[in-house]
Amino acid sequence: MLFLDELPEFAHSVLESIRQPIEDRVVTVSRAQGNVTFPANFMLLAAMNPCPCGYYGDSTKHCSCSESAVTRYRHRISGPLLDRIDIFVDVPRVDYEKLADGSATEGSDAVRERVERCREGQRLRYSESHLSSNAEMGPVEVREFCQHFLDDAARSLIRMAVNQLALSARAFHRVLKVARTIADLASSEAITAAHVAEALQYRQRVQG
Ligand SMILES: [Zn+2]
Repeated sequence: MLFLDELPEFAHSVLESIRQPIEDRVVTVSRAQGNVTFPANFMLLAAMNPCPCGYYGDSTKHCSCSESAVTRYRHRISGPLLDRIDIFVDVPRVDYEKLADGSATEGSDAVRERVERCREGQRLRYSESHLSSNAEMGPVEVREFCQHFLDDAARSLIRMAVNQLALSARAFHRVLKVARTIADLASSEAITAAHVAEALQYRQRVQG
């Protein structure tokens, strides 16, 4: 797991250089004596504020940044890097009532059990191959384990999304992989429109 907190604060060259390991799971170091390639298989987790002051879109506190400062801040993360991130989650302020309310939340044990069941299913699915998780699927596996399992409604939804959201081929594959995982967590062999819709929702991000 590689966690980059305050993502826009990293140098542009650093952010661009993690594109290769995200995509190929290897990192190549070039020196005068030659190139060396090392394995670099990691899960990238990154956090950033919505703007430099941190309050853009907040329900109670006013954002003090100018429009151009917000735009400049968000543009520090390039489109190609964003395109390689599978899941975007907005984390708004939590109301006091919700924080103080101790009831009706699912415990970590139950979530852990669900995740372990899901990972075990993936190990079985890929037992004949060199893969171990949905995230590692290439185009061939996406066709075999995702596209093949889309029901009719899911198929038309993803077709509509590709056209209307102008998804790149990479984004299309990533949405399908996330939808496969959502279906796995629900113990569903088929990928339904609800699974695709949830996966598409994770692609939405605040536009710069
Ligand atoms: Zn602000």
